[in-house]
Amino acid sequence: MSEIPYLPQIPLVLASKSPARLKTLHDAGIRPAIQVSQVDEDEILRDIRALPAGQVLALAAAKARDVATHLDSAQIVEAENSPAPNIPPLVLGCDSMLEIDGKIWGKPHTPEVARERLRAMSGNSGILHTGHYLVNSASFASLSAVSHATVHIAPMSDADIDAYVATGEPLHVAGSFTVDGIGGPFIEEVEGDYHGVVGLSLPLLRTMLEETGLSITQLWTDHCPARGNLSEKGWAFLDPKRRVPRQLADGFLVCACGHQHWGLSGAGGICALRKHEGRVQVLLQLRAPWSHSGGTWAIPGGAVQWNESAFEGAAREFSEESGIDSSLLRPYHPENTALMGIEETGDITYIDSGELIEQRPDLYAKTEATPCVLLDHGDWSYSTFVVSCPDDVEIRPNNESSLLQWFDIEGEPPSPLHPSFARTWFHLRENARHAMSH
Ligand SMILES: [Zn+2]
Repeated sequence: MSEIPYLPQIPLVLASKSPARLKTLHDAGIRPAIQVSQVDEDEILRDIRALPAGQVLALAAAKARDVATHLDSAQIVEAENSPAPNIPPLVLGCDSMLEIDGKIWGKPHTPEVARERLRAMSGNSGILHTGHYLVNSASFASLSAVSHATVHIAPMSDADIDAYVATGEPLHVAGSFTVDGIGGPFIEEVEGDYHGVVGLSLPLLRTMLEETGLSITQLWTDHCPARGNLSEKGWAFLDPKRRVPRQLADGFLVCACGHQHWGLSGAGGICALRKHEGRVQVLLQLRAPWSHSGGTWAIPGGAVQWNESAFEGAAREFSEESGIDSSLLRPYHPENTALMGIEETGDITYIDSGELIEQRPDLYAKTEATPCVLLDHGDWSYSTFVVSCPDDVEIRPNNESSLLQWFDIEGEPPSPLHPSFARTWFHLRENARHAMSH
């Protein structure tokens, strides 16, 4: 007999009443408890300015957190009777939307709307976005990810559409069709993640668990999990000790680039400049050891919330961390297109402000400021804004900053610099010289 123990089983709660999601999990050997959230989806969407990927993520997060907050005592008792009694249930929230011709469609609800949408979808293709949010019901530690798949829909006659609407199936599913039900014959091709189209991507769930140091086999209900010792990272995610309550868009996102990033709705930072005794200086923050990327120097910033533009989020985070009132910041407008025109270097894009607002109205419209450096990973982005600051402004670091200090832009940057910021240092210096030469 092997002496290596089995990994502990983890109870799962699915925050959805979708039969397709439940069947997907059942077929994969996972029988979750079901608890449906009470959130008002329309109300949440009203405050969100994000693209489709952000919208499905915001809804998935809201549903899962609502269920985690109001978890039935029965579920907790069930969890306590589980083979690993100290492990709180994980709650999984999902939400899907179909994007066709730039429009986002959730559930149609009425036959009239379903008929109209199916006519627009007939012979067309769309992108199905599915947001996934996994949260520890006790600590509220979380991880999220979005799957995307392109769906090609066969031409449908009016008679086919009427007959399909009459089955009732399309009324209560995202995008007005199912790929695994009566609508299946009309889906000609799926490019990308098939499971995501059903409403829950199993490979993405596996990846999310791996990213937290866990194994999908730990969710199996009637089979033994894999053998092994759970890593420190895995125990940390299962730790029931409650963390500081956070805002909804705080948390880690598993990005298509293979890394985890902070901020479900993206993140942003403020590169504050001043002229001091003839020299241009930048304000840098030494992040507190406990914070994200603690112990490294970076510009103050953080997660943008769903209802904020990138600049509003960056400026709020900057103010919280530096004590500098955001009304003192003068955003720099990159008008000189010779310097600021679109110029790709790796995944860093120099910005032409007009084009940018057109491309990402969710992030940049309705704000005076445009970022000087953008890291755009699709589902996640980081916007850096250059602003000028009064020379004598007082700094009051909060507990996320070990130190805040002005550094000469022409001198050596402090060490260790945050890795992603280290790559953009050169661009920021160029922008700083240009911004302060006026
Ligand atoms: Zn990424």
